Amino acid sequence: MTSDKIRVLVFGAHPDDPDFKVGGTAALYSRMGHVVKMVSVTNGDAGHHEMGGAPLAWRRRAEAAASGERLGCEYITLDNHDGELLPTLEARREIIEIIRDFQPDLVTTPRPWDYHPDHRYTSQLVQDAMYMVTVPNVVSRAPYLSRNPVAVYVADHFQKPYPFRPDVVVGIDEVIEQKVDALHCHTSQMYEWLPYNRGQLDQVPQNPDERRLWLRQLLDARFRGPAGLYRDKLIELYGQERGSQIKYAEAFEVCEYGAPLTEENLHRLFPFF
Ligand SMILES: [Zn+2]
Repeated sequence: MTSDKIRVLVFGAHPDDPDFKVGGTAALYSRMGHVVKMVSVTNGDAGHHEMGGAPLAWRRRAEAAASGERLGCEYITLDNHDGELLPTLEARREIIEIIRDFQPDLVTTPRPWDYHPDHRYTSQLVQDAMYMVTVPNVVSRAPYLSRNPVAVYVADHFQKPYPFRPDVVVGIDEVIEQKVDALHCHTSQMYEWLPYNRGQLDQVPQNPDERRLWLRQLLDARFRGPAGLYRDKLIELYGQERGSQIKYAEAFEVCEYGAPLTEENLHRLFPFF
């Protein structure tokens, strides 16, 4: 790569997954002038109790785009049906094409161990696309990449077959409000479907400012989780003083199917330490 700009491609299954897992880190990259693109592999047209189909897909697409604006990045949703994603050859070709067109230095994906089939198959599709992005005769309509990007998994709490092991943990204290502002854009998720699914719809305030505060408080413990769990890694990367003070973090584990993360490219790809 000749450019100093780092290009980061963030995959998630649903409109809210990319920003939920990588929103803070994305905001940090954007502030530094690097280029982030978020991709929801499904259009989110199923996860709701009152609406569905194309009207919901359009609404989710607009919410994702608004979230991307808060984070300083492009945020697109593909047109695969929510709840029905499969790791087909056709879907793999689409992912290969997106990676090739964007030419990322770094790709993020969920792990294949996750409760939601769309999350698992998003992971499968991205893993299957790694390496193949360098093979000229695969998806010949998009120019092949001369080298495989580095790929990392985003953090999760699933224990089987093995728990998430952080290789990189990024402190996001200075952008935590920006991350919440981004998630606040997903009205149909944060204030409708997810509370309904948890049986807490009656707790959601109607007023937008009160809602945002309610969401901020709801997510606080969750966003504090990684810094507490991966404190040793934060101290290793940021040093004792800074590493022990970070409250909010996002964590990443190397996917072996991308290019290796080395001591050298660690500091280029994650210029935060
Ligand atoms: Zn999801």
